Amino acid sequence: MKTANILGVQFHAVTLAQAVDAAIARIDAHQKGYVVTPNAEIVYLCRSEPDLTKLLNDACLVLPDGIGIIYAAKILHETLYGKVAGIDFADALMARMAKEGKSIFLLGAKPGVAEQAATVLQKKHPGLIVKGWSDGYFRTDDEAIAAINAVGGVDVAFVCLGAPKQERFMSAYAERIDATLLCGLGGSLDVFAGTVQRAPDIFIRLGLEWFYRLLKEPKRIGRMMSLPKFMLTVLGTRLSGSQKKGNTP
Ligand code: UDP
Repeated sequence: MKTANILGVQFHAVTLAQAVDAAIARIDAHQKGYVVTPNAEIVYLCRSEPDLTKLLNDACLVLPDGIGIIYAAKILHETLYGKVAGIDFADALMARMAKEGKSIFLLGAKPGVAEQAATVLQKKHPGLIVKGWSDGYFRTDDEAIAAINAVGGVDVAFVCLGAPKQERFMSAYAERIDATLLCGLGGSLDVFAGTVQRAPDIFIRLGLEWFYRLLKEPKRIGRMMSLPKFMLTVLGTRLSGSQKKGNTP
């Protein structure tokens, strides 16, 4: 798979359909791995947490979740085929998995949310086997791993603990967890459960989903300040010509 280097993070240049095909192929081959869906904020965070870059690049699928990454690719003359939001990827993946009777586990969000999401997802994707769920406020990581392993193995475990917590969790425990694929999805369980609304289509189409989230949750402003910093760094990298394929920032 071709990659696009965005400040050292190697994104896979795939469409949503190709990403789903790649994930299904890995599940069928029982090839373990984890999927990450970084946005501009996370790529920018890699500058202060350098080990995060390697951990993202070690994922079997690195999907561009956010319009900031797509603009950055254009500026850096890297090829990406558009945004592949984690939640859209998960939805399309579950639709395919449902047809093949595959199984999932839901880890994350506040108590009660994952269970509610399980009910909604089972209705939406008849045939999908939701083997279990557990909230994201566990005392020890071992507790969360045990909760997943207790159901006796799943094709995919969605790990929704927010970034970069979920990426660190998946990278550390992928081998110990009895799931073929782990998939980090941020706040998606809240959306699946219906406790948080996703931006209306018009915001998504205009690349303004981040703005809608800011309107709904003004406390995100601190986190979102990394967006302009990310864009300035991308522009600086372009102007100085300092990025070569495979370089870290
Ligand atoms: N969360 C969790 N455990 C934690 C911290 C957060 O399960 O220790 C959940 C939180 O309840 C929410 C999600 O992780 O459901 C993070 O959502 P957010 O929208 O902040 O994530 P993002 O998509 O921006 O990474």
